[in-house]
Amino acid sequence: MSILKNNDDLKKLVDTLNFKEKVERSLALIEEAYKKYGDGLVVANSLGKDSVAIWDLARKVNPKIRGFIVTTRYKPKATIKFMNEEVARFPELKVYKNDVEIPDKLYETKPDKCCDILKVEPTRKAVEEMKVTCWITGLRCTEGRTRTDFKEVEERDKGLVKLNPILIWKEREVWEYLALNEVKVNPLYGLGYRSLGCAPCTKITVEDDERAGRWIGTSKCGGECGIHTRPLKNIGGDGI
Ligand code: SF4
Repeated sequence: MSILKNNDDLKKLVDTLNFKEKVERSLALIEEAYKKYGDGLVVANSLGKDSVAIWDLARKVNPKIRGFIVTTRYKPKATIKFMNEEVARFPELKVYKNDVEIPDKLYETKPDKCCDILKVEPTRKAVEEMKVTCWITGLRCTEGRTRTDFKEVEERDKGLVKLNPILIWKEREVWEYLALNEVKVNPLYGLGYRSLGCAPCTKITVEDDERAGRWIGTSKCGGECGIHTRPLKNIGGDGI
């Protein structure tokens, strides 16, 4: 039976599958997606812990798999350095960035607009230029309040499938995987960050919600940049 078409109770699997079973499930999802989508299968890599985990998993299925990184002018220096090291190690990773002029501190006044311009737009460009038919993301349903209802396989945009192969992993299991597989991680985690984004919109927090440190003090607090919620294909005009 196709694992891509499963109707499993994912919330139950979060607590009932063990680490090994979760890794096997993730690899099976990627393997089947690779058979189905071939080179149209591409990994979205945000340089966070979940992204480097899915990048490592995907490379186990196909060492030549392509990926894209969306970066912005506001990423922390440590993340830019880590990005450059990752791209040097994995030339299959392509970097996208929007350098268009925007109002100063737009992240304070209109963070949704800022994310639309700096994150969602380059993601749309990556999807189009790399001819992506299925993108792999590191979404997990235990990350925070906005991530509880995703599915392992989704098609929010017609012609663009999204595969979330580690959706049912817990934070601890991501770190377990990274340690056991000796995957390099962004050094900012060593400072206490649990979820990484642009410097002005990311703080160190100790709350249960992993994403609680994102966009503190704005309407987006603990929320989403938009690449998982906004249309990525078939956009008219400037798409914003
Ligand atoms: S995370 Fe903040 S700085 Fe980065 S694009 Fe979004 S609003 Fe702008």
